[in-house]
Amino acid sequence: MLLISCPNCGSRDETEFHYGGQAHVPYPENPNDLTDREWAEYLFYRDNTKGTFAERWLHSTGCRQWFNMLRDTVTYDIQAVYPMGVPRPAAPFPPAADTGTASTGAASTTPLSPSTAPEGATK
Ligand SMILES: [Zn+2]
Repeated sequence: MLLISCPNCGSRDETEFHYGGQAHVPYPENPNDLTDREWAEYLFYRDNTKGTFAERWLHSTGCRQWFNMLRDTVTYDIQAVYPMGVPRPAAPFPPAADTGTASTGAASTTPLSPSTAPEGATK
């Protein structure tokens, strides 16, 4: 269970919040100039980052305000919480290893991925 620190209310249980997807997806400057493919990519295509990821969250049973969060999608470690409209904080933490390259870094203690195949690859 995550303990999420709402910018308005303080630390609350994860069950009070709703996940809102990827943060910082800019609205197209001229939507009418986009092709159907480009519009579909704006609407539906999101990054699938392994590591630090900027997300939108709604404190649905509290102040009912949206805010952004930097969270590690592997460890669930919450690295930053910041209001909407604020740029993504600079990363004082290691950048996410979101490529298909297998990492054998010292931080990894669980040998869960013996394969070097990218995430989602079929066997
Ligand atoms: Zn709140």
